[in-house]
Amino acid sequence: MTYAFNPAPQPALPIRGTDKLFPIHRVYCVGRNYVEHTKEMGGDTKDPPFFFQKNPDNVVLDGKFPYPAATNDVHFEIELVVGLKSGGTDIAATQAMKHVFGYAVGIDMTRRDLQAQAKKLQRPWEVGKAFEHSAPCTAIVPAQHVENPAAGGIWLDVNGVRKQTGDLSQMIWDIPHQIAFLSTLFELRAGDLIFTGTPSGVGAVQRGDRLKGHVDGVGELDLTVV
Ligand code: MN
Repeated sequence: MTYAFNPAPQPALPIRGTDKLFPIHRVYCVGRNYVEHTKEMGGDTKDPPFFFQKNPDNVVLDGKFPYPAATNDVHFEIELVVGLKSGGTDIAATQAMKHVFGYAVGIDMTRRDLQAQAKKLQRPWEVGKAFEHSAPCTAIVPAQHVENPAAGGIWLDVNGVRKQTGDLSQMIWDIPHQIAFLSTLFELRAGDLIFTGTPSGVGAVQRGDRLKGHVDGVGELDLTVV
């Protein structure tokens, strides 16, 4: 049997320092994983973090972000992104880091108005989170080149003004516990990406804005809203 039409291209990210690509399987995102961001979103800091997904082809290399349709309130959320080289189910937190391929800097772009409406109507979040170009990302840095993914500065500037500042050590669920928890719900596999949550200071973008995101030891992401 052959396909009736050409399948969509395999979404992938470059791997820094190599000529290889990281083929993307799924994109998991953790919500409310930093206390200060949970507060600014009006969430209860005693509630545990939770997960949603974006589509693999929403991941695009950093550079340009076309202002999306159907919204007047698009927010940036700077995040450390974890890429897996293997997976499974019921992974123990103590074993989780063995599955990590590497790290990238990403932005969880969010149609906040559509997300707010979905929350209010108790509908799914896809319209707010999983749209075209909604996951700009840098190349993946192999884990052996990232000294300490558990601590370090994470920040985002808009037009040279610092908007978000935090430290990876402020995550409510650290990377091993995110992997362990996800693996109780889904079968993780090589190529999965995990957006690990955002510190406080999220805000709206306008066309022409220049965003610069940074994670210590991983890299910088540049994005122009067009
Ligand atoms: Mn997020």
